[in-house]
Amino acid sequence: MNNNELLNKLLGISKLLVMKSDFIGEEKLHLEVASTLAVASCPDCGQVSNQVHDESEAQMVRDLSIAERQCFLVYRARRFKCEHCKKTFVERVEWKRANVSYTERYERYVYQRVRRESVSQVAQDEGLSEEAVQAIFEYRAKKRRRHAGIRK
Ligand SMILES: [Zn+2]
Repeated sequence: MNNNELLNKLLGISKLLVMKSDFIGEEKLHLEVASTLAVASCPDCGQVSNQVHDESEAQMVRDLSIAERQCFLVYRARRFKCEHCKKTFVERVEWKRANVSYTERYERYVYQRVRRESVSQVAQDEGLSEEAVQAIFEYRAKKRRRHAGIRK
């Protein structure tokens, strides 16, 4: 097993491959990842496109720590072109919400911690701002209420 294969298994996010890994100082790990999906479906018409138009700048997406090292996925979102609409769109991925810099499972982890610990404690341990922790908590709490069918 080479390093990237091992890291893929550790990461365990389907349709995502580790291309490169780097230690950043003693405390951080960067995993450069790429999607293995060749296509994406257009949010407007639903048609599947295999034409990658371009890629975003690298985004740093916080994920669960690995061996007590803060883990960041270095991810470039792909923009596809829809032949039908003649428009371009950014692919959606199931492991991360659009426009946030955390994985879904990291948000779940932070949410679970805040249920037991104070916001400031979690923020300090995770190296996040209290505002960021609070925002994650509120988003997940709202989502849970929706799932439970309870209106706010
Ligand atoms: Zn379309």
